[in-house]
Amino acid sequence: MILDGKMCSSKLKEALKNEVVAFPSRPKIIDIQIGENAASEIYIRNKGKAANSVGIDFDCVRFGVESTEDEIINKIKELNEDETINGILVQMPIPDKYDYKKIINTINPSKDVDGLTYVNSGKLLNGEDGMVSCTPAGIIELLKFYNIDIASKNVVIIGRSILVGKPLSMLFLKENATVTVCHSKTSNLSYFTKNADILVVAVGKKHLITKDMVKENSVIIDVGINRVDDKIYGDVDLENVKDIATITPVPGGVGPMTVTMLLYNTVKNYKENQKKLVLK
Ligand code: NAP
Repeated sequence: MILDGKMCSSKLKEALKNEVVAFPSRPKIIDIQIGENAASEIYIRNKGKAANSVGIDFDCVRFGVESTEDEIINKIKELNEDETINGILVQMPIPDKYDYKKIINTINPSKDVDGLTYVNSGKLLNGEDGMVSCTPAGIIELLKFYNIDIASKNVVIIGRSILVGKPLSMLFLKENATVTVCHSKTSNLSYFTKNADILVVAVGKKHLITKDMVKENSVIIDVGINRVDDKIYGDVDLENVKDIATITPVPGGVGPMTVTMLLYNTVKNYKENQKKLVLK
């Protein structure tokens, strides 16, 4: 079976659109692009399209590589103060000369729609409500949409990045799964993958996971995006694995869910601001 992230995200976007249409003003996202990156341009365009489709304004603020870190930080501080803006994110990757952590942690945590500030990652670690990183949040949402049981399942996550693997492990623990996180130093990877009821692969290596490495009737979430000869592939050999497991396709699986969670987080900030206005 295929877990259709595109269809699920369309339904979620429809629900968001119905909410946003009743708002007194349009929520707004600002994406900050530092330097030039062709892949980032595609992501920015897709986010903009998705935002507009549910009635959210979207703008990109661009900085050339000659910009100083202070200029970027001052712009973020300005955006933090602007009450018409509900979401601020920094498009990755950024050039090495900048202190990524310093830049990210300048974002007001309530507008940190990518959920990457220390405040939001700390809240996730403590099981408190905050902005949750979009890809991990989208994966849990997709599993719930398909009524896939998570509690007590053996979940194996390959990849321990701050963007995907680490926050996702926290979300699965919250859902009472038993979680194993594998990485490049894991020996005998297939020992773990073969025992996974739910396997999440977030590595960035085309077809790292093959049919012989997965458990029959398991659920596989393929996060990887690998561009080869102008085609996009996941980290899992979809064509062969789909015969024995339930799996997300690439493209059309996790990607659309990630973008939709960005919109969800923006709407969340908007609603929290409205509540504060009522209380004032
Ligand atoms: P990342 O920061 O490069 O992390 C990759 C992880 O994979 C690391 O933890 C690394 O281990 C591990 N790894 C590398 N080679 C391995 C191997 N042979 N066996 C086991 N583990 C291995 O990447 P990321 O940002 O998490 O992204 C991962 C992939 O997901 C990329 O293809 C990215 O484009 C894609 N992605 C997709 C979405 C989406 O919305 N669909 C969102 C985010 C990312 P070490 O820690 O030991 O180095």
